[in-house]
Amino acid sequence: MEIHDIIKKSRNREPFSREEVVAMLALPADSLNSYVLMGEAARISREVSANRAEIHAQLALNLAPCPKDCLFCSFAVANGIFSTSTVASPEDAVRQARQLENDGANALYIMVTANFDLGAYLEMSKEIRRNLRPETVLIANVGDDYASSARALVAAGFRGVYHAIRLREGTDTTISTTRRFESIRMFQDAGLSIGTCVEPVGPEHTNEEVADMIMFTAFLDPSFSGAARRISIPGTAMAARGMISELRMAQIVAVTRLAMPRSVTGNCSHEPGAIPIMGGANLLWAEVGANPRDTAERTETGRGHSVAAVRQLFTETEWRTLDGPSSFFRTR
Ligand code: SF4
Repeated sequence: MEIHDIIKKSRNREPFSREEVVAMLALPADSLNSYVLMGEAARISREVSANRAEIHAQLALNLAPCPKDCLFCSFAVANGIFSTSTVASPEDAVRQARQLENDGANALYIMVTANFDLGAYLEMSKEIRRNLRPETVLIANVGDDYASSARALVAAGFRGVYHAIRLREGTDTTISTTRRFESIRMFQDAGLSIGTCVEPVGPEHTNEEVADMIMFTAFLDPSFSGAARRISIPGTAMAARGMISELRMAQIVAVTRLAMPRSVTGNCSHEPGAIPIMGGANLLWAEVGANPRDTAERTETGRGHSVAAVRQLFTETEWRTLDGPSSFFRTR
């Protein structure tokens, strides 16, 4: 398929076949045609979000070795990075949440490791909710065991959940794709919107695997999709597989945008960078506390970006950022 036929098909809002998505992913990341796709994806992202990018901020309530053993995660017991558990005090969690809200984050994600107690999570989340502005969008980032209590998350004030079937789920993790998919449906059935992503992409993933995941995220009718590359955790077995470049991630971000219906207005990328914005990312992340891609206990001293740093990336790429609550979640 010629590049101009791809652009024409996109502008006609016709869905792409798996073969066409694979062909887009197979372009060399630094080729002219790949840049054309990135340019068109960025144009669509600006169009569907009125040139207002969003900054979503994640706050981790705990740090703990996690028995689910996702091999790309610094919390995995198998990786041996962290051996002790810590939990933020309710006062600290509220203070950090209010800081992120005041910094201008458009949505706030409350993350815990998969083995964190549900009752404690709900209590702390309610305390955070009570101390935020009513319109502030609160999103849960939690394990599959919480899915059967999805209505309790709604009652605690959550608008949505971040959940994904990760690439090679069940092989590089101990969780089955069936379980992850059931959780997503349970969250959605309770009225929670889903944010998701094609992640964590490494050099070993084939174009077919990435294409299948892109199309799966479209099938979920999410508030946003996007793509995130795997960050190597030093000293782990997975680090030996290496990382894809930021440019390759930007290409995948672009193909994800093109393959997604226009009703999905958010297109995320992680970790933040100007190159994925050029590929059509209109959603980037700030992080506070523990971070599954970091070996620092507090990612704000490590890999994590502040809201201001993410805003600067958007400013440098001539985006404006949204003031107020996330439109990606509002429109679902
Ligand atoms: S990604 Fe989540 S479930 Fe997997 S090891 Fe890390 S904290 Fe546990």
